[in-house]
Amino acid sequence: MSAKDLSGRVSLVTGASRGIGRAIALALADRGSDLVLSARRREDLEAVAQECQARGVRARPVPIDLAAGAAIGAGAEQALKEFGRLDHLVNNAGVTGDGLLLRMKREEWDRVLTVNLTGAFEMTRAVLPGMVRARYGRIVNISSVVALMGNPGQANYCAAKAGLIGFTKSLAREVASRSITVNAVAPGFIDTEMTRALAGEARDRMTGLIPLGRLGTPEDVAAGVAFLLGPGAAYITGEVLHISGGLYM
Ligand code: NAP
Repeated sequence: MSAKDLSGRVSLVTGASRGIGRAIALALADRGSDLVLSARRREDLEAVAQECQARGVRARPVPIDLAAGAAIGAGAEQALKEFGRLDHLVNNAGVTGDGLLLRMKREEWDRVLTVNLTGAFEMTRAVLPGMVRARYGRIVNISSVVALMGNPGQANYCAAKAGLIGFTKSLAREVASRSITVNAVAPGFIDTEMTRALAGEARDRMTGLIPLGRLGTPEDVAAGVAFLLGPGAAYITGEVLHISGGLYM
């Protein structure tokens, strides 16, 4: 496996402005991939683009709000135009909207399903025709271990993340004949802005459930994604790679 085994490839990463998405972008840049970086806030994306460029690759920010309905397709089209093609799509952007189901408002359900699941559908739908024409493509969807374990207070998030796994497997079967692979990565408890709200004793309790005895880092997840996009994963499709320190096994 060469250190630059993604040279000449173009990768689109959603939610690339911080946390896991930023780490994925940097890991792919380290391996030589050009990057299209997407999230809502342009300034944050520009900072990550500079970090990627410092690694010797081309990187362009393309702001897309995955809650923006029909506008997502137009954003994805713009992302495609940046380098004329996309070889890899990483559907990483995600949000939570926690609450017990008895108190969950329809709006919170819709928002979480829209960004986490429908957003991935819209991005994939826009990018897939080019991959089919090229008879090459790699898609990685970022799910979560809670898709399989459940989590009280996260019925909307777990439903969206479980939906992504069904989406991954169905699409993997649809496009395998075109040499396009589709896989999911299911992180456990990763130290990012998304999980910082969990503090003190609750955080210690959670860490106690992880056999490897620590929270994951964004880089732990990025390494798995880079592997699935690389030549060593050519024969892996429809798979769910858990990166959870053993929280789920
Ligand atoms: P994070 O730090 O909160 O980052 C989320 C990213 O998504 C940001 O780049 C954010 O940028 C973008 N985003 C949010 N809403 C968006 C929208 N409407 N349209 C487009 N982009 C949007 O989260 P993270 O922890 O890195 O999580 C990344 C992925 O891993 C998510 O899918 C998450 O569900 C999943 N995951 C995380 C953990 C964990 O423990 N952290 C565990 C399992 C799975 P803007 O705000 O600028 O849009």
